[in-house]
Amino acid sequence: MHICKTIDEFRNFRHTVSEKKVIFVPTMGALHEGHGSLVQMARRLAGSSGVVATSIFVNPTQFGPNEDFHKYPRPFEQDVANLIRWEADVIFSPSPEEMYPAGSATSIDPGPLGNVLEGAIRPGHFKGVCTVVAKLLGIVEPAAMILGQKDFQQQRILRQMITDLNMPVELITAPTARESDGLAMSSRNRYLSSDQRARATAIYRALCHAQNQYHSGIRDSAVLQAGMIEQITQAGLEVQYALACDPETLVPYTGIVGAPCVLLIAAKLGTTRLIDNVLIS
Ligand code: AMP
Repeated sequence: MHICKTIDEFRNFRHTVSEKKVIFVPTMGALHEGHGSLVQMARRLAGSSGVVATSIFVNPTQFGPNEDFHKYPRPFEQDVANLIRWEADVIFSPSPEEMYPAGSATSIDPGPLGNVLEGAIRPGHFKGVCTVVAKLLGIVEPAAMILGQKDFQQQRILRQMITDLNMPVELITAPTARESDGLAMSSRNRYLSSDQRARATAIYRALCHAQNQYHSGIRDSAVLQAGMIEQITQAGLEVQYALACDPETLVPYTGIVGAPCVLLIAAKLGTTRLIDNVLIS
C-alpha cells in the first residue's frame, strides 16, 4: 500500500503507473463496509493490472461553522487496514494546508442544484464538495471515479460538474450499502446512542413504505411525503425533508409523482443528521 501525504508524492506515484487504468474512490475516512463496497467495485473494474486509488481527506470547506468538522472521526490506522483488506493500491491523505495553502482563492460554483435539499440546509456545502473533488480529480487523474448513491445529490451535482467542465473522467454511482436492519451505513452512525441507533431504522422503513405505495399505484406526492414524515416523526426523529423529487432536476414533485423519482429523507436524531434515499426508475 502506497500512502501519499503530499500532492508531489502522489504525482510521483501516478507517474509510475501512467499507462495503467486508475479507478478512484474519494472518501473522508472513518471507513465502513459501504466505502468497502465502492473500493471493491473499483478493484473489480481496475482488474489486477489497474490501480485502485483512494483518498482520505476531511475537507474543511464542505463543513459549516456549526458542523462536525473537528469532531469528525479520523481513525487513520484502522482505515489503512481496511483499505489493505479491500485491496486498494494507494491512499492520498493530504493535510488541509496541503490542499488549501495560504492564498488559495478559487472555488467551484455548483449552480442551482447546489442550493436545494442538502444545499438549502448546509449553505456552501456543495461549493466545498465541488472544489475539493475537482482538485482531487486534477491530482489523481483517474479514468473513472466511484461515488455512492447514499449521497444522491452529491453524485448528481458532481456528474453535472464533470459534464460542464469537460472533465475526462467516467462517473459510476454505486448502490447504498446497508446494515442488516436497513439503516444506510454512514460514518456518522457511530455518533448514535443505542436508543437512537434503534430509532434510526425508521428512515429506511419510511422510504420503503413510500416506495411500496408508489408501486401499488399511489402517486399523490402529498400522500407519499406525509406518510414518510409521519413514520419518521413517530420514531422520534426530527424531519428536515422527506420528498419525492425528479432525480435529474432534484425538484420536488407536486401533485402527481412521475417516473423516474427519487425519495429523499434528511432527519436529525439529537445532533446527528442522517440522510438516505431510494431511487424509483
Ligand atoms: P464520505 O466518506 O462520507 O465522504 O463518503 C465517501 C463515498 O462513500 C461517497 O461517494 C459516499 O456516497 C459513499 N458512501 C458513504 N456511505 C455509503 C453507503 N452506505 N453505501 C455506499 N456508498 C457510501
